[in-house]
Amino acid sequence: MPLFRATLHRLWTAEGQSRAARSVEVFGWLISAEAVVIVLAPHVAASVLHLPALVEQGVSYLRLAGVLGGGVGMLYVVSGRMNAEGFVFASLLERSLMIPVMAVLWSVSLIPGPLALVLAIQDLGSLLWTLGTRRADVRVPPTVETLAGTVSGDLDNPRLRATELIYVAAMLEEGERITARRPGDWIARHVLGVPVLTGTRLIAIRGLDKVEAVEIEHAGGRETIACDGVVFTGRFQPETAILKTSHLTLDPGTGGPAIDQYFRCSDLQFFAAGNLLRPVETSGLCWAEGRIVAANMILGLKDRLPEATPAVPVTYAAPLKYVYPQRFTAQMGVVGPPPLCARVSRAARGRLRLLVDGRELWSHRVNLLPERRITIPTDRLPPVGAQQIHVELIED
Ligand SMILES: Cc1cc2nc3c(=O)[nH]c(=O)nc-3n(C[C@H](O)[C@H](O)[C@H](O)COP(=O)(O)OP(=O)(O)OC[C@H]3O[C@@H](n4cnc5c(N)ncnc54)[C@H](O)[C@@H]3O)c2cc1C
Repeated sequence: MPLFRATLHRLWTAEGQSRAARSVEVFGWLISAEAVVIVLAPHVAASVLHLPALVEQGVSYLRLAGVLGGGVGMLYVVSGRMNAEGFVFASLLERSLMIPVMAVLWSVSLIPGPLALVLAIQDLGSLLWTLGTRRADVRVPPTVETLAGTVSGDLDNPRLRATELIYVAAMLEEGERITARRPGDWIARHVLGVPVLTGTRLIAIRGLDKVEAVEIEHAGGRETIACDGVVFTGRFQPETAILKTSHLTLDPGTGGPAIDQYFRCSDLQFFAAGNLLRPVETSGLCWAEGRIVAANMILGLKDRLPEATPAVPVTYAAPLKYVYPQRFTAQMGVVGPPPLCARVSRAARGRLRLLVDGRELWSHRVNLLPERRITIPTDRLPPVGAQQIHVELIED
């Protein structure tokens, strides 16, 4: 009897439930809810799933299927709450089988497409969730607090592979949202089990010989997170140390050398490409710039690039943080000008405009976030005669 009571208590409190078991439980509640709808409103369920019109017997059979589905749902709920690791594994197998089974049944016209699709999506989604959380359960200690002083103990766990030795204690972001695309934060939080702390400032890194913790400011209070490393992944700066003492003009917006559309610096003998030009771009874009610059250098050596003057300055207004190339030589379009590239310093939406001598050449509705590349086509720029190129955002 005490054992039965203890088991009921575990079922009620779900004590020590892992994240994978929780995902199994949630899936169980979902199936159970669907079963309730099928039992109570079989006609609604049939029309949503595009089943043929139900005759009297069909209603009974559908209700029976609902009851059986409810039973499976209850199994998932109970096993999930009881943290039954064996069932988590069995459910992974069962759900991965559902997808090919649905495909086969649909291909031989035994079940309608919408029903097969709904079941396949439901099983695939929940399968990925359980898989992700299971990995995180093995890799990430349950809370940061439990880590303090026991990091080496966790890392000695032979169940952890070399590639799994790094766990993420938290991801910090000063802004209200992450810079990466959504649902990046959702996946990090719920699939990988990494706390994503927005509106959070890194105050200090603690430790003498090695990093031991970071101090953060979050929701008006200060906290300490135990960790043995800090990775900075934002606020890049172009590596322009070598240019700081040179005669080349640097653009305060990009932090890199000011260039024209041929990637020529203020001294035309110097070309620049890659992440020297601005805070950071992808390797593919840097590679493409390198190729263009190489072609332009060959043209330059053959005296086939235009003179530096007259040059048309490119201006911009906040919230744009920078725009480059910073100038266009008057013979625009000789080798197919690259687009203007820009970024904003804060999230903003509105109409982005390209103006030449006050006349709008191009505009586009945009929803902009910092650190995202903005490209503005330049193919409509007049080949000669312009005095000023201006980029602005008319905010909503
Ligand atoms: C943390 C991080 C993660 C990234 N992840 C991705 C990613 O997932 N995908 C992606 O596409 N891109 C990624 N990038 C960006 C990618 O690494 C860069 O876009 C690419 O490497 C830029 O190439 P580059 O040739 O312009 O500059 P670099 O690759 O930085 O090359 C510049 C070279 O110049 C050398 N150098 C500097 N100063 C001097 C000097 N004074 N004298 C001689 N040599 C000098 C440097 O040592 C370096 O070798 C990432 C960048 C960072 C920092």
